Amino acid sequence: MTLPAHAQVVVIGGGIIGCSTAYHLARDHKADVVLLEQGRLTSGSTWHAAGLVGQLRSSASITRVLKYSVELYRTLKDETGLETGWKMTGCLRLATNADRWTEFRRLATTARSFGMDMHLISPAEVKVMWPLMETDDLVGASWLPTDGQASPSDITQSLAKGARMHGAKLFEGVRVTGFDMRDNRIVAVRTNQGTIACETVVNCAGQWARQVGAMAGIEVPLQPVKHQYVITEKIDGLSADAPTIRDPDRRTYFKEEVGGLVFGGYEPNPQAWTTGDVPDDWEFRLFDDDYDHFEQHMVQAIARVPALERIGIKQMINGPESFTPDGNFILGAAPECANMFVGAGFNAFGIASGGGAGWVLAEWAMKGEAPLDLWVVDIRRFSGLHRDRTWVRDRTLEAYGKHYTIGFPHEEYESGRPRIVSPLYERLKAHRAVFGSKLGWERPNWFAPDGMEAKDVYSMGRQNWFAPVGAEHAHVREHVGVFDQSSFAKYELSGPDALKALDWICAGDVTKPIGRMTYTQLLNTRGGIEADLTVARLADDRFYIVTGTGFRTHDRAWIAEHVPAGSSVRIDDVTEAWGTLSLMGPKARDVLAKVTTADVSNTAFPFSHVRDIHIAGVPVRALRVTYVGELGWELHVPIDRIGEVFDALMAAGEPQSIRPVGYRALESLRLEKGYRAWGSDITPNDTPFEAGLGWAVKMKRNTPFLGREALEKVAGKPMKKRFAGFVIDDPDAVLVGRETILRDGVAVGYLTSGGYGYTIGKSIGYGYVRNADGVSDDFLASGRYELVIANETVPARIALEPLFDPQALRVKA
Ligand SMILES: Cc1cc2nc3c(=O)[nH]c(=O)nc-3n(C[C@H](O)[C@H](O)[C@H](O)COP(=O)(O)OP(=O)(O)OC[C@H]3O[C@@H](n4cnc5c(N)ncnc54)[C@H](O)[C@@H]3O)c2cc1C
Repeated sequence: MTLPAHAQVVVIGGGIIGCSTAYHLARDHKADVVLLEQGRLTSGSTWHAAGLVGQLRSSASITRVLKYSVELYRTLKDETGLETGWKMTGCLRLATNADRWTEFRRLATTARSFGMDMHLISPAEVKVMWPLMETDDLVGASWLPTDGQASPSDITQSLAKGARMHGAKLFEGVRVTGFDMRDNRIVAVRTNQGTIACETVVNCAGQWARQVGAMAGIEVPLQPVKHQYVITEKIDGLSADAPTIRDPDRRTYFKEEVGGLVFGGYEPNPQAWTTGDVPDDWEFRLFDDDYDHFEQHMVQAIARVPALERIGIKQMINGPESFTPDGNFILGAAPECANMFVGAGFNAFGIASGGGAGWVLAEWAMKGEAPLDLWVVDIRRFSGLHRDRTWVRDRTLEAYGKHYTIGFPHEEYESGRPRIVSPLYERLKAHRAVFGSKLGWERPNWFAPDGMEAKDVYSMGRQNWFAPVGAEHAHVREHVGVFDQSSFAKYELSGPDALKALDWICAGDVTKPIGRMTYTQLLNTRGGIEADLTVARLADDRFYIVTGTGFRTHDRAWIAEHVPAGSSVRIDDVTEAWGTLSLMGPKARDVLAKVTTADVSNTAFPFSHVRDIHIAGVPVRALRVTYVGELGWELHVPIDRIGEVFDALMAAGEPQSIRPVGYRALESLRLEKGYRAWGSDITPNDTPFEAGLGWAVKMKRNTPFLGREALEKVAGKPMKKRFAGFVIDDPDAVLVGRETILRDGVAVGYLTSGGYGYTIGKSIGYGYVRNADGVSDDFLASGRYELVIANETVPARIALEPLFDPQALRVKA
């Protein structure tokens, strides 16, 4: 078969992800698809995968993607005639200690929230299901009956056949060698056998995705790591339907295969492969057996299944797999290139993800928009930092090593830190800051009082910072605190068409006079919330945009992509130019008035306004906003002078007891005030109406904007879900998110955020209440609510207004 001169979509890579994407592009979108594989299909990482297929993840959308995989693997042979080897054996996860058991109780709750039936069972029940297992050390196990296993090569061949049946053309032995680019757009794919002009490229090149991406100037931050398992001889008494096992406390997993076991693990000392380019000729290849390294898994596996001591090993598989710095895979539209989409970095769950990842990636590539909230896997969660391959390697190895460790809430990574620090870093350290890291930035999470070690001590209950954060919280409510929020992402959007462009992109009304600010959402064509940010009008044709640290790449790309064609607009990322100090609390004005000659009274400087002022001789862009519900200003300062402003505020604020405050107090304050967090409370799956943010949308202005049509269709109609707050009186309840919401005993949703409100002295959760017939005010108010927290049902009260509203309690001058 000769290569065509043109294709609508070129998919690079014939592993499970490429074949699934080609299948869905052809089946669902009738696209003209060409798939190019440099060797033979499956010859990269796919052929040697162990084939365990789990479904539950901490994101509802990703769980949905994985569930889709299972459904596809179950039914694909009916369409293609080729088996996938799918066996619904179920999966047992073993717990050997109390913290793990708490983790499983939370996991079972998450499963229930996402509509899956996970059971918690006793060691005796485990023994019955898996008689060859040693169970004496178990506290219990979780049991998910719908998990299973499949044959990675068979699934891939079946998907490849399906893709061909729907018209896709698959070529083996064709290597992509480069791209013809026009500006930041690929116009043709160059191969060792000719060039193919195309409109869209999907990079599914597995561990090669990094170098294939680099050919188009894009960064795919993954790291190939050696991953090993062994296949044993037949074991007497092992059932062909034996459930797969994950034994995280022993860092191992097991699966039945032709009467023997496959077992492997996630060691704390993983071995990275190259940070350079992966060789092209790595077809059906493995590394040498490394029994020295594998011994740690062998010891643990024998302790769990003693029969293994007497059983021979048939084969060791030591193969490379792409892992990523946060353990999630990488999907979506590369920010650096207008038409390259990526599906790579599958962290040893590419077989489990393959079917669903191909489905959503095909949708994304064809419609230019993800079909659901895929933020946790979105390639735009990375930044320039991730171009550093050494940093990516170190963080990835840490993430790999944590694959089976207990996931404590609020846990921070340790590798590659500190990476980006604000000029206040040393000052805050002197105040005994305990830092966390976000997109490379060190940020104070909390401040340790004298006599307490400045360090997080993780646990499943209240952690060591609980009381100090409470003190910080109270300080902001009663006095004044200063937060270093320099890591905020900041852009300037300017040009003759700046206003017109933003008016189209923003759901809120940004056409306000100079000096005004707008809190706004950016919507997709479904009316879902793609971003949530503030826009300050600096001049007729110049705007300052501030958004969350982690959303820097994502939000900028979203804005840039949706500027109407032909507009004269430029977007500058000015994140590193401006440091940010948030001065918050009832005494904020008293402090600010002392350090500036500007009039900061409510009349001269009202809420939602921006002013250029001077503090200690430093020019400052002051934004009167708050995320804590108190009087306050965000002070944006030329970053090299932020130290001077911090010192001036700290000195002037002494009589008001000013103090630095960290991000954990910020979170508690915003929970009480009911501010929504993008990525959890509000996502592309939720409209502003559902989120209770309809007031921020310019429906009344007769002007078109992105997402308006979708909102118009639902405006005034009953909503199937609505955002609400919940309060728990039980002082011991710890909310971490994803707890199930029960209304009159029936599951109606789950928490998107959870935490503790120190002023009200109670745990607070937020989430969507769902009802197919509509969620009216009456429906919300009339129910009897409970939350399922770590598998236990606890009474809850619904809260439709902010739980603490200082504006209502204190009269502002
Ligand atoms: C030991 C081991 C055990 C595993 N066990 C499991 C498991 O139990 N469950 C699970 O879900 N996952 C498991 N995995 C992970 C799984 O194998 C991978 O996530 C999955 O195979 C990734 O598929 P892919 O399509 O992204 O990559 P690949 O299968 O590597 O496919 C990428 C393809 O791109 C081709 N390519 C690269 N560059 C070019 C180019 N320039 N031109 C043309 N073609 C190119 C390559 O030749 C390759 O075939 C395991 C992995 C390992 C290593």
